[in-house]
Amino acid sequence: MNDLATPKVGFVSLGCPKALTDSELILTQLSAEGYATSKTFAGADLVIVNTCGFIDDAVRESLDTIGEALAENGKVIVTGCLGAKAGEGGGNLVKQMHPSVLAVTGPHATQEVMDAVHLHLPKPHDPFVDLVPAFGIKLTPKHYAYLKISEGCNHRCSFCIIPSMRGDLVSRPIGDVLKEARALFEGGVKELLVISQDTSAYGVDVKYRTGFFDGKPVKTRMFDLVQQLGELAKPFGAWVRLHYVYPYPHVDELLPLMAEGLVLPYLDVPLQHAHPDVLKRMKRPASGERNLERLQAWRAVCPDIVVRSTFIAGFPGETEAEFQYLLDFLREAEIDRAGCFAYSPVEGASANALDGALPQELREERRARFMAVAEEVSAAKLARRVGQNLQVLVDSAPMLGKKGGVGRSYADAPEIDGTVKLLPPEKASKQLKVGEFTRARVVAAEGHDLVAVPV
Ligand code: SF4
Repeated sequence: MNDLATPKVGFVSLGCPKALTDSELILTQLSAEGYATSKTFAGADLVIVNTCGFIDDAVRESLDTIGEALAENGKVIVTGCLGAKAGEGGGNLVKQMHPSVLAVTGPHATQEVMDAVHLHLPKPHDPFVDLVPAFGIKLTPKHYAYLKISEGCNHRCSFCIIPSMRGDLVSRPIGDVLKEARALFEGGVKELLVISQDTSAYGVDVKYRTGFFDGKPVKTRMFDLVQQLGELAKPFGAWVRLHYVYPYPHVDELLPLMAEGLVLPYLDVPLQHAHPDVLKRMKRPASGERNLERLQAWRAVCPDIVVRSTFIAGFPGETEAEFQYLLDFLREAEIDRAGCFAYSPVEGASANALDGALPQELREERRARFMAVAEEVSAAKLARRVGQNLQVLVDSAPMLGKKGGVGRSYADAPEIDGTVKLLPPEKASKQLKVGEFTRARVVAAEGHDLVAVPV
């Protein structure tokens, strides 16, 4: 143990925002029990690695990190999606590759991880429970936070193995979710990012059960949740941003809330494709919905809405005509922010058994063609912003913004979208502060970003 008697845990968090919230829960618990954290493997008494097992690159990165932690520290606990993955012959993959790890758990396993920590690094005697803020430990900057509303997924998309790792949908009780949101706003969070595997399905597993918040009944249902989050954010002037929303008909109910400014007019809708036959082969949720009409109807109710989506090019059996249909959709639906992956088989996914696998070069070529169109669409939409006056949340502002800074508008989610490059403010007396809002006039569009002058 280190010489300061407080046991120190090194922590590495890999993977998606959902894994990040698992990391936050574990770190909050460690801190509540009086453990300290170490920035280096060598300075820690034990290391926890929260892994990702989604695509092959992520698996490699996770296994390499575990190897490094073992080499530099020796005492390693592994958690996260890779921890739930089977290796050759059916045994646990992590244990096969790194037999000396102390313990391995799957995702969403705070208690199991804590049990393993207690076993290998006993709890300190005097936990500083009151040093932990009400909203726990956050790994994101202080002004934005992810709010996980459910775990797991009831769908079985043919390219995805998440349900086999995380199980079926389990919605968090609405009272707990709203309590966490309020604590986050009270703790200074200015942007709340709602995440799950399938936000539109919130409450399906509990039949939209009525829960309680502040003694009042609230249904476990997406509309009620979003409305309540918007009301909670209002006194703080904070943003609420929705991710992973599938285009089911009931999502239409959210548009008036966006139009009236209660939550951001931004929807992250992972569509993956547009052609009905490809969607069917992908076994996508809402594959029978008329997505183009739906998006157009959303824009009619809320013309400012920004739609982000991700797509897969070169899925098994995708014909040139199906791919062209996707490109046409992208143009017609005017997807503001589109990401695209060249299809890559994931071990254990049912899509691997589909006929018509396309050569790697063709998948890559289609991805590149997709991105060229996506950039054209996005650039045209960004160009329309020049001259607009936008509210911008400041992410970085050295010297109080004297030489400018970087922020984001409602159209930009952190990490995945563009940014607003802030020029030095017009008035010399104006200051920019990280985590605060400023108004800014857009003067140019550059690639995925805007350039604006704080006013
Ligand atoms: S909706 Fe499909 S892609 Fe998303 S987690 Fe569920 S099975 Fe995977």
